[in-house]
Amino acid sequence: MNDEKPDLKDGRILLVEDDFVNGKIISRLLEMDNIPTDWVKNGKEAIDFYLQNKDSVLMVFMDLQMPIIDGYKATVALRENGFKRPIIAMTANAYCDEKTKSKEAGMNDYISKPVSKMDLFMMIEKWVNVDKK
Ligand SMILES: [Mg+2]
Repeated sequence: MNDEKPDLKDGRILLVEDDFVNGKIISRLLEMDNIPTDWVKNGKEAIDFYLQNKDSVLMVFMDLQMPIIDGYKATVALRENGFKRPIIAMTANAYCDEKTKSKEAGMNDYISKPVSKMDLFMMIEKWVNVDKK
């Protein structure tokens, strides 16, 4: 299909979410579809995870409001450290400037919270080659 997209079979999706319930729901949705997923709880953990697993991180679903390092600062740090693959913001509708700010920080796209299964898989199909061999 599209050669520019990374192949899902070559790596994993990194989920960055501090809220336990949201993180659990989203990681379960991905795992139930056999999508390899790693869930970390804040921006600092996301940066550390990327630095230790550089090539295998195919795309990132990034919460914005998080303790220690938020989603904006984590995105800037990932970009500074050479991560060029898609980072998808998970935005809360209550904060309407989140979409603009997430673009400015270097995120490629966004989905609204609460995250639906349809939005999640639409984003994966948009940004990653999901052909199952
Ligand atoms: Mg949060």
